Amino acid sequence: MHNIPFSNLFRPEILQMKAYQVADSSNLIKLDAMENPYNWPENLQQQWLEALKNCPLNRYPDPQANKLSHLIKQQNQIGSDIEILLGNGSDEIIQLLLMALNDNASILAPHPGFVMYHQIALSLGLRYINQPLLTENFDLDLTGMLESIEKYDPAIIFIAYPNNPTGNLFNDDDIKMLLKNSNGLIVVDEAYAPFANASFIHELDNFPNLLIMRTVSKLGLAGLRLGYLLANPFLIEQFDKIRLPYNINCLTQATAEFALTHQALFDHQSQQICKDREIMMQNLRAIKGLMPYPSAANFILFKSLVKPAEEIFKALLDDGILIKNMSKQGGILHNCLRVTIGKEDENMAFIDSLKKIMSI
Ligand SMILES: *Cc1c(COP(=O)(O)O)cnc(C)c1O
Repeated sequence: MHNIPFSNLFRPEILQMKAYQVADSSNLIKLDAMENPYNWPENLQQQWLEALKNCPLNRYPDPQANKLSHLIKQQNQIGSDIEILLGNGSDEIIQLLLMALNDNASILAPHPGFVMYHQIALSLGLRYINQPLLTENFDLDLTGMLESIEKYDPAIIFIAYPNNPTGNLFNDDDIKMLLKNSNGLIVVDEAYAPFANASFIHELDNFPNLLIMRTVSKLGLAGLRLGYLLANPFLIEQFDKIRLPYNINCLTQATAEFALTHQALFDHQSQQICKDREIMMQNLRAIKGLMPYPSAANFILFKSLVKPAEEIFKALLDDGILIKNMSKQGGILHNCLRVTIGKEDENMAFIDSLKKIMSI
């Protein structure tokens, strides 16, 4: 390391990190990243392009994105006692949350969980504690969580609800127990809310240490990069101080404003995805040697009981289908793969290929 120029300038944890890897998906059926597979009807696209014409690209965007913030609060029926902060994706919000903490702060999250919590905590040199989920059903190990709270007094606990990559909703009474017993903040990450029919948003008034994080990515606007955080005004005020001005560009603001006024389209698409998720689940259950796990999100995690996950992943790729191999993370994810719910024909192509692979 010492003979590489400038390496001494960097913190050791940065030198040891790997950048977030995204698989090349060109010419593949893309079922790896929890994207909504549908685009918009032609007439809506035209209306959207018209709306974009009004974006003054020579000017900086509204630094507070007031109109959009207001719209989001209104749509979620958020009262004046709760504030909002927008991020360039919820990934940026995770970064803001962690950047504001004391150097000696600990972060606690269930494992397996969303990798960015760990990645960003690492990049900031914060202590990160993985709390293993119960192996039988991927639910929270409440006793273990409470013990870790006692032991590490985490400044922030991340709870993805539903969880990625397992797809399940944790027991809501367990989450309330954590809220009651933690001195720190609990971020309930509702990235998959459109598919879950469950939310902690109505608990905001009951727990001052609760923060709700959401994103429009999984809803159908992954290309926009827009996430938001809802919490009590004091907390939002602190995080807002380290948010870079103009983090939400004017094209994103205008597009999100436009899209959110066409919520019915997204609701319709989400319902379709939920229906297709049930069909996908039945099809996976019918394939011998696979064990799919229940999901309240737009993806399904499944374990291979006979063939190595890597072999299945590669054989699917040979058939032009990209999913996510979770097996490398080890532990309870050993031999697990994650498939995103796509369009009907994409899902069928995946199932047909998988049937063939599992029968060889
Ligand atoms: C995808 C995902 C996010 C990231 O959302 P962006 O807004 O696209 O950055 C956050 N949390 C979880 C649990 C996710 O799965």
